[in-house]
Amino acid sequence: MFKVKLISYTPNPERIIATAAKLCYSAEGIEKIEEGLNEDNVANFISMLTEIGHESPIEHVSFTFSIENVSRALLAQLTRHRIASYSVKSQRYVNEGQFNFIIPPEIESVAEAKEEFIKAMNEDMLHYERISGILKNKYKKCMIEEGIDEKIANKISEKKAIEDARFVLPNACETKIICTFNARSLMNLFLHRCCNRAQWEIREVAIEMLRLVSKAAPNLFKKAGPPCLFGTCPEGKMSCGDPYGVRERFKKIKGEQ
Ligand SMILES: Cc1cc2nc3c(=O)[nH]c(=O)nc-3n(C[C@H](O)[C@H](O)[C@H](O)COP(=O)(O)OP(=O)(O)OC[C@H]3O[C@@H](n4cnc5c(N)ncnc54)[C@H](O)[C@@H]3O)c2cc1C
Repeated sequence: MFKVKLISYTPNPERIIATAAKLCYSAEGIEKIEEGLNEDNVANFISMLTEIGHESPIEHVSFTFSIENVSRALLAQLTRHRIASYSVKSQRYVNEGQFNFIIPPEIESVAEAKEEFIKAMNEDMLHYERISGILKNKYKKCMIEEGIDEKIANKISEKKAIEDARFVLPNACETKIICTFNARSLMNLFLHRCCNRAQWEIREVAIEMLRLVSKAAPNLFKKAGPPCLFGTCPEGKMSCGDPYGVRERFKKIKGEQ
């Protein structure tokens, strides 16, 4: 099961956004604007910004998540979101012999498919270990012939070997990520990835991210989520056809029910 944590975020996020937005429309100095803010007018201001679509002030606050026990398939989808910062477990530097892997629930639920899947993972591990072993011996031999100390040659050759051996690793390979999004980019992530049309893994991770930020900044993320929460579904023929079910689910996720 994946693990998502909100490990850090800009303190007083909604207050910062309200200050930034209010100064756009005010002749007063920033200190005076800050002094005039209280819980109620911050909430009103944030909802007004959402209504009129003035989105740039929400870029001033950011949220950092740790994400563990997810697949490299999820990584490929998440990192398509360019307006964010990422740190990811490296397959160049971390040996993936005996790697952990993510089994999609649909595969997990069919014994025959699961058996085939695990067989493929075990074979991948075997190929990875064989290829890294062969390359490591080749590099080590060359280095020793060049007069490099055996201990050093051992270390360098392993690193060099796994760099290329990783090409046989599957999308299912487990990874871990730390990512930071500003609120505007997060809204875009939620719009696309909380939708039932997104794949199950990134959808559940995005929904958990939304649940966490909704606690930290409830007014800011009140309208966050898939398009059908507050409008019509843009997916046409591909629509899941269940906007009412989706709306009920998101009320619970945001703690509104
Ligand atoms: C259900 C689903 C299916 C998908 N299927 C595919 C697929 O088959 N193939 C595929 O390649 N991708 C696919 N994607 C990925 C998708 O095309 C986007 O790459 C991904 O969702 C990131 O969105 P984004 O570009 O809005 O995010 P970000 O990269 O975070 O960008 C945020 C916003 O900034 C602006 N922006 C960023 N960069 C530029 C730029 N260079 N020029 C102009 N504006 C910019 C845009 O307004 C953009 O919406 C899919 C996504 C979903 C949700």
